[in-house]
Amino acid sequence: MSTNLQELLDSNKQWAANTEAREPGFFSRLLEQQTPQYLWIGCADSRVPANDLVNLLPGELFVHRNVANVVVHSDLNCLSVMQFAVDALKVKHIIVVGHSNCGGVKAALLDARVGLVDNWLRHVQDVRNHHHEWLDQLQPEQRVNALCELNVLEQARNACQTTVVQDAWARGQEVVVHGWVYGLHNGLLEDLAITAAAADEVAPAFQTALRAVKRRYEQARFSQLSSEAS
Ligand SMILES: [Zn+2]
Repeated sequence: MSTNLQELLDSNKQWAANTEAREPGFFSRLLEQQTPQYLWIGCADSRVPANDLVNLLPGELFVHRNVANVVVHSDLNCLSVMQFAVDALKVKHIIVVGHSNCGGVKAALLDARVGLVDNWLRHVQDVRNHHHEWLDQLQPEQRVNALCELNVLEQARNACQTTVVQDAWARGQEVVVHGWVYGLHNGLLEDLAITAAAADEVAPAFQTALRAVKRRYEQARFSQLSSEAS
């Protein structure tokens, strides 16, 4: 087994040389300042690399990732990232991004015991418990992805309710909160349309986005049942 990861260091040298060749002065300009427009709050899953999915360069996306893209009001790590992004960097958009087939969401849904992370995933189980009557009506194979999307909506709403975002809105700073889901199967991001740019937009945006998610899964279930019956 290699102990020095030379292949990664070599690969990094190549990447730095290619980047500088494509855009001379790239790194010296980044050294001066970072002015990202976006804060990405996503899952730690290695298949969901933030910058790559939206084709943004270093300096263009501020990123926070954790298991199952959870935004908790007592998580000082996430809140500190949000505060720096909003207050210091003045990002214009906060995007909470979940993804299909999320292992964290699946563990939460099925009450799987994984380890320390079970405690973290209690937050996703709260989402599951809150929506369990609706989730129970779906086909078992639909439930993980449905909970992934419900989790995005709940965590995006949590982001809206942080003091960081509430204070920014109160002082008239432009910050828009979004909720997206990424399809591992096709590489595409989908906007779940819980888009809020002011405190009074949060509740209606949440309700509209929730109805849209539910409608989509119910239609998929209905078409599946119809095709089975015919
Ligand atoms: Zn995940």
